[in-house]
Amino acid sequence: MKIARWYNNHDIRIEQVPRPVPGPGEILVKVQSCGICGSDVVEWYRLPRAPLVPGHEIGAVVAEVEASVADYRPGDRVFIAPKVPCGQCEYCQKGHFPVCSNVKERLPGGMAEYICVPQTLVEKGTYRLPDAISYDQSTFIEPLACVVRAQRLAEVGAGQTVLVMGCGMSGLLQIKLAAARGCRVIATDITAQRRAAAAAMGAQETIDAAEDVAGQLDGRADVVVLCTGAMTAVEQAWRCVDSGGAVVFFAVPGPDKSVTVPINAFWTREIRILTTYYCGPPDIDEAIRLLAAGTVSVDDMITHRLPLEDVAQGFELVLDGKESIKVIINPGK
Ligand SMILES: [Zn+2]
Ligand SMILES: [Zn+2]
Repeated sequence: MKIARWYNNHDIRIEQVPRPVPGPGEILVKVQSCGICGSDVVEWYRLPRAPLVPGHEIGAVVAEVEASVADYRPGDRVFIAPKVPCGQCEYCQKGHFPVCSNVKERLPGGMAEYICVPQTLVEKGTYRLPDAISYDQSTFIEPLACVVRAQRLAEVGAGQTVLVMGCGMSGLLQIKLAAARGCRVIATDITAQRRAAAAAMGAQETIDAAEDVAGQLDGRADVVVLCTGAMTAVEQAWRCVDSGGAVVFFAVPGPDKSVTVPINAFWTREIRILTTYYCGPPDIDEAIRLLAAGTVSVDDMITHRLPLEDVAQGFELVLDGKESIKVIINPGK
């Protein structure tokens, strides 16, 4: 079978490997759709594990089940989480699933014709897709779950003003979810196409990130969500957050950068600064509900569908970021 192997953003090779055979407790799934995530193209984040098969936003159909597996059968439509927390350690007990200290198995990368799902993930990380969610739509479950988590931890609620900085795929999902929850949403980006997408997807107002964002803002934001690693956005975030509000680092500047916090000014204004990373099982459940109910629609975000052979082109599209929003690889086609 074919897989895509990523060496760096400009060296992605299609390679032939033997089709895996499911061992005890495992299932073999045929990948139908796999999204390219913004984090897949962040080299400082991915290179330490390269070469690797990318892809963690997967919709698949079960192809084979090992004899001891009772819960699934060939033909079942599934989404599989990239990893599952243990649920037992002190982090899991406190709801900090993304930092579980007992994660051993990870889902193999989805840019492949087939993947063998490890037993732990068959048992705790595989979700049947509701009929209302297509394979392409299912690639949004994981990214939307991360957005659900960020807005829950930031206590986003109806009537608030939410400022989303950076309107790539995850920024647009932040906008859609906040709008669906009855927030007033303002979005910033440096590119006009992305600002137009933000306006079409629920932002009441958009501001060119190259301009004085705080100066153009009418009042301040209850929650500022950083969906870009740009240092200028961090500076703007500090100036745009309201007293009692929160700044969420959903994306971060690279590891060589450090951020200066105006902590004295924030101290007396009770401003919270938080980071959110990845998602947990309750966030995935919520994302599936939101997509199945149509509360968050995603079809308008899919700009490109490509066969596995064209993964390299897909990465170029995501890196360029101008004409693409969501790029989906369909290895079955
Ligand atoms: Zn992702
Ligand atoms: Zn744990």
